[in-house]
Amino acid sequence: REFANAGLHPVMLENIKLCGYRFPTPIQMYCIPAILAGTDVVGIAQTGSGKTGAYFIPILSRLMGKAKKLAAPRPNPRTYNPATDRVRAEPLVLVICPARELAVQIFDEARRLCYRSLLRPAVVYGGVPLRLQLEELGRGCDVLIATPGRLKALMDKPGVLSLNRVKFTIIDEADEMLQDDWEEDMKRILAGADVNADDDHTYMMFSATFPKEARKLAKRYMMDDHVRIR
Ligand code: AMP
Repeated sequence: REFANAGLHPVMLENIKLCGYRFPTPIQMYCIPAILAGTDVVGIAQTGSGKTGAYFIPILSRLMGKAKKLAAPRPNPRTYNPATDRVRAEPLVLVICPARELAVQIFDEARRLCYRSLLRPAVVYGGVPLRLQLEELGRGCDVLIATPGRLKALMDKPGVLSLNRVKFTIIDEADEMLQDDWEEDMKRILAGADVNADDDHTYMMFSATFPKEARKLAKRYMMDDHVRIR
């Protein structure tokens, strides 16, 4: 019932406090221990339920313990020159969501929860020129939040982004995404992130409803013993 007893990294506990979260919401109460234990999760949850924290709090907490070893290569932020210093982004966490506003909101939460850690979040979405996002990815990132169309476009550019290191894939508002004809892009993206999928790769899916297509997706990518939380 309290964050302090959940076995979270001390930096994460500090960040939760800075966010002003005093008690876990119901979805967080279920998801945090499950994800800390490495279980795949399907959460039936609306925006406003605290679902973003439900996946970021345990995932980022787990990564904080290993951030020195795991954090992606990146240029010096003070002297970063996109013309010469760009690295290939190799995130450990990939969040896919249907719309720009949601992506920005998720990014905001990621930024607050990554605070004072070595983990660096980045966000990419369609409808804006590629150039700035290429520069942004060129700074390196550990947590990437993306809409599917733009993500696929970036995956197709050589040397920009590799999903080979992704250990956590989160499909947020899955029902919206499946409605928007993004099934093909999603398949490509998930296949890209699935290359090194082993028992270590955790999949999470959040959806307000759980239609047949979403169930199919869950069946294809989730471990058999995933938990469904509503
Ligand atoms: P979400 O459902 O992830 O979009 O979150 C909805 C809102 O609830 C966001 O503004 C979060 O910052 C906030 N929130 C998330 N977790 C908590 C919590 N444990 N206590 C209070 N507010 C929270």
